[in-house]
Amino acid sequence: MKYLYLLGYPLGHSISPAMQNAALRACDIRATRYVKNPMPPEKMREMILALRAPHCIGANVTVPHKQTILSHLDELSELAREIGAVNTIIKRDGKLVGDNTDAYGFLQALRVRRINPAGARVSILGAGGAAAAAAYALAQADAGEIILLNRTLARSVELADRLNKKFPYLGLAINDWDALAQSQLIINATSVGMSPRVDESPAPKHFVFPKHAIVFDLVYNPPATKFLRDAKQNGARVIGGLEMLIYQGARSFELWTGQRAPIRVMRTAATAALNEIMQTSSHKG
Ligand code: NAP
Repeated sequence: MKYLYLLGYPLGHSISPAMQNAALRACDIRATRYVKNPMPPEKMREMILALRAPHCIGANVTVPHKQTILSHLDELSELAREIGAVNTIIKRDGKLVGDNTDAYGFLQALRVRRINPAGARVSILGAGGAAAAAAYALAQADAGEIILLNRTLARSVELADRLNKKFPYLGLAINDWDALAQSQLIINATSVGMSPRVDESPAPKHFVFPKHAIVFDLVYNPPATKFLRDAKQNGARVIGGLEMLIYQGARSFELWTGQRAPIRVMRTAATAALNEIMQTSSHKG
């Protein structure tokens, strides 16, 4: 048996195992399983040893390792280096190669809704791995201006510096909260609003979402975050994080297996797993 790991801490109720195992079954890849492997930050050495074991053929990496793992890998794709975060590891000729499929997943979630960010003024809340992937994807898709809004200013500055090197003509602003109301696309790439803290929003208190805006929350549990509920109430068009999760997972699957990802199967499995988590937590709550 070969294994694909999901590495992170804590892993809690992740829907990736259900989604990836359904894809493996649908493609008749019977001898590989996708399993959770919770690893706290102090266990980086054990994590790398687990990845190097012959039965491991790759992994997904999530919070808190997406950035810290970079220096422990043998190679990085250009994209992972530029974004500064890895969410997928592929074993190639015994080497651990880090890649990033979040940027693709993010853009694909817009594309399937026929949303083209070219020329748009975009605000991104957050400056971690997900925000970096979203900002990179938007810059590549010719967004007009990107406004980075984050609690820790130093992190936004660092991300803006990196984006500026790669995209010197991109309009960039940092912590300009007034620009939020004039944005065409507003993205939550913070972890605020994630279950179980479902009544929190990263938007400023009393913020009125512009009616014309498209509001995208990368959080997928719950599907309707407070951020999205408030935006919808003001008439904005809203997008939850599930579709991005499915497309980033599909791209990871293709990198590991070389086979085309069965998107429909993955969507069905991810949706069912998320519904089950929602039901379990509503019974507990
Ligand atoms: P991360 O690197 O740990 O970054 C977390 C971000 O959230 C930072 O900007 C942090 O601000 C901010 N934050 C955390 N708590 C906050 C609070 N109480 N108030 C204000 N800001 C706060 O995590 P990440 O990997 O970027 O992930 C961020 C979110 O995106 C998570 O919810 C994750 O599940 C989601 N995500 C979704 C997908 C998908 O496929 N749908 C993919 C990737 C990530 P500071 O810098 O100030 O700490």
